Amino acid sequence: MTPPTSSPSQSAPAQPLAPPASGYTPVPYEGPSFDEALALRREHLNPGIFHLYSQPLMIVEGKGQYLYDKDGRQYLDAFGGIVTVSVGHSHPKVIGAQVEQLQKLQHTTTIYLHPNVGLYAKALADKFPGDLDVSYFTNSGSEANETAILMARLFTGSETVIGLRNGYHGGTGTTMGLTAHGTWKFPAGPPQNAIHATPGYCYRCPFGLEYPSCNVKCARDLDDKIQYETSGEIAAFIGECIQGVGGVVIPPKEYFGIVYDTVRKYGGVCIADEVQGGFGRTGENFWAFEHWDVQPDLVSMAKGIANGAPLGAVTTRMEIAEQMKRRIHFNTYGGNPVSMAAAKATLEVIDEEGIQANAKAIGAHLKERFLEIQQRRALIGDVRGLGLMFGVELVKDRTTKEPAKAETARLLELARERGLLLGKGGLWGNVLRIKPPMCLTKADADFIADVVDEALGVIEGGG
Ligand code: PMP
Repeated sequence: MTPPTSSPSQSAPAQPLAPPASGYTPVPYEGPSFDEALALRREHLNPGIFHLYSQPLMIVEGKGQYLYDKDGRQYLDAFGGIVTVSVGHSHPKVIGAQVEQLQKLQHTTTIYLHPNVGLYAKALADKFPGDLDVSYFTNSGSEANETAILMARLFTGSETVIGLRNGYHGGTGTTMGLTAHGTWKFPAGPPQNAIHATPGYCYRCPFGLEYPSCNVKCARDLDDKIQYETSGEIAAFIGECIQGVGGVVIPPKEYFGIVYDTVRKYGGVCIADEVQGGFGRTGENFWAFEHWDVQPDLVSMAKGIANGAPLGAVTTRMEIAEQMKRRIHFNTYGGNPVSMAAAKATLEVIDEEGIQANAKAIGAHLKERFLEIQQRRALIGDVRGLGLMFGVELVKDRTTKEPAKAETARLLELARERGLLLGKGGLWGNVLRIKPPMCLTKADADFIADVVDEALGVIEGGG
């Protein structure tokens, strides 16, 4: 069986696997051709904007957990628009809320009073434990992190911010400085007052130790780092409670408690970057930081917050938030009524449709499947995940752990041919990133596992 609307131009495997039928018929595509779209992009877009596949994939429609290309071929979207689509592509309630708002008023800024911004800020505050109840809205995760760091510096009167190696926080000046992946850093000026500590990446422990006999040295090392590399006065620590771009790195359970205590000992505040891990994706809890029993001082968000509408946010408590009164600060599109309507509807759908519980259940099933596949496929070095924030690290050799970079790239291409879109990450691009819309079904999860299993077999056979 082939995928219902498969394109004959794709090279099909011997016994193709079929993605579960979506029951949706895509609208016939009538826009510019593939060649026209590609030529336009080549001529008029910055060439640094990259494609995921060797042959660009032209996606023109989405519904639920599925995407459709220009020929109407269906793909299971296991990357969720890079972790952005929380409740499914084109969710009727989220679209409906935006259309309704668009018809009344597309834009005012926060210099006027509009109810949407306050309504959403209250709904968001209700999702946080403790006194995290004051928000600043931006358009992206990078901006949210910039704003969080600015507030932290103003509040503490210190400059130094500590990020984590293998972390990603954005592509703007300060956030690129705090990102610790050489591949994402440009030689364009030194990062300002940014240093990087050791993440809890047990599979590749930089100290060569094993948990728990290591006594969580990665976290305890931070105290030395602050003493040696800073004046001893720090503004903030920023960390993803589960690293996303870095390849779904999940620290030992004590890690963040030790790190947060150390940061506070030196006068810093703690920023949780929930751009990928938030909004129920990790299953057990709504926020990734809740897995580690810590309470951040500031939380930055974006991506899944509004199911694809451009929105970022930073939420904190009033004594930190009010530092922004010291000068004039403004974000033209931040808090606009349409994005706020999208975000509020997304939050409601997450609750109404049991999205977080689904992420937990389907994520657990996915893990079970991959742990079994790992026993048969030598390329799988490590399987890790919480809910639908899931990663599979591929290695050439389980003893040396040499990253299987080319094999991962090949696997993505083979999966695409079979109707499955995956992501990849990690410093060497050797971690499969599976972060689909959280409406994923068990049958979808089985399809993901079956396709990866089969594709690994092809690669192991030299294909
Ligand atoms: N933080 C994290 C954890 C991210 O994954 C990203 C985006 N990959 C960002 C911040 C930056 O978000 P944006 O691309 O919306 O600026």
